[in-house]
Amino acid sequence: MSRDVLALANAATARLRAYDPGHDLPALREEYGPRLVELGSNETSLGASPAVAAAIAAALPEIYRYPDPKGGALKRALAAQLGVDTAQIALGNGSHELLMLIAQCFADAQTSVVYSQYGFAVFAIATAAAGAIPVCVPALPADHASAPLGHDLDAIAAAVRPDTRLVYVANPNNPTGTWFDEAALARFLAQLPDHVVAVVDEAYAEYMTAPGTGSAVRLLRNGQGGRDNLIVTRTFSKAYALAGLRVGYAVGSAPAIAVLERLRESFNVNSLALVAAEAALADAAHARHIREFTAVEREWLAAQLRARGLRVFPSQTNFVLVDFGRDAREIEAQLFRHAVVVRPMAGYGLPTCLRISVGTRIENERLLEALA
Ligand SMILES: *Cc1c(COP(=O)(O)O)cnc(C)c1O
Repeated sequence: MSRDVLALANAATARLRAYDPGHDLPALREEYGPRLVELGSNETSLGASPAVAAAIAAALPEIYRYPDPKGGALKRALAAQLGVDTAQIALGNGSHELLMLIAQCFADAQTSVVYSQYGFAVFAIATAAAGAIPVCVPALPADHASAPLGHDLDAIAAAVRPDTRLVYVANPNNPTGTWFDEAALARFLAQLPDHVVAVVDEAYAEYMTAPGTGSAVRLLRNGQGGRDNLIVTRTFSKAYALAGLRVGYAVGSAPAIAVLERLRESFNVNSLALVAAEAALADAAHARHIREFTAVEREWLAAQLRARGLRVFPSQTNFVLVDFGRDAREIEAQLFRHAVVVRPMAGYGLPTCLRISVGTRIENERLLEALA
């Protein structure tokens, strides 16, 4: 007896397609060895703090035990650094998991979720997984002065409906690299009605150096009160160079975090990831080095690409979005043949663009040679 199992999937899942990870990177690493230049996933080529390996080694004998389900030590370290209570933090198996969890907790088939065109892809997936109604708001125009293709915060606020429960924004955003400053964020949040939870995805916040920029966490600090309906998500995958370990966190009001805790898997962050994140957080010098190196190298890479006649969008992240002015598929394929991996953007509706992570100087030069 056989039947179409897909027909048994719930409606929300039936509409989804599986995540396309792009190239088979493990196979490529085997094929190309150290020649492979990986600039497709916004990882940090500088690597994690040396303290991370030591922390993992020290924790290894205990891996037969379940991890701390509360992640108490990491939460205390984060709380101290961010100026919030531990009850204001939820840990995730990467921030991707938390973005999904937030939709599961706050959205359903009777509600809508608002996000921007060219916003981070997970916003649409989380909305679909919850079976909620997506409201995708047109991005700012490509000739916008400070945030081309970026979030139109006024339009996003205006798109909120009586049935809206969630609004996702990313600051800075992936894949556009665009950002907004603290004053714009405050204006935006003030426009949102109180039946909406605002999610600010700050996966790249550590890279922001432009004047007036800052984390939305500031609005959640102890004693500042209010803002029950704001959740900020952050990650150890990017500026802390721990993408392989999967650790992210959400910061919100204690009541908002308590909602997430109802559905969070009890052991979602493994024991090695917990100690690694704590060690990475404690190494402020390494974090500063990554931030400063990336800021300088990003501008160098952008200038080099612009000098070759390409349009490079402004970025406050560890990647740049580059417009080649024609279908970029063949360019991507050619780079690939030179063992340089970048990310095509056709899936985002930007077929003339490629997203390129900022690598080491050697990697960036390899990219430029391959482009030539
Ligand atoms: C990479 C990324 C994330 C998620 O990263 P995790 O590894 O799941 O923590 C979230 N948001 C944006 C915008 C990203 O680019």
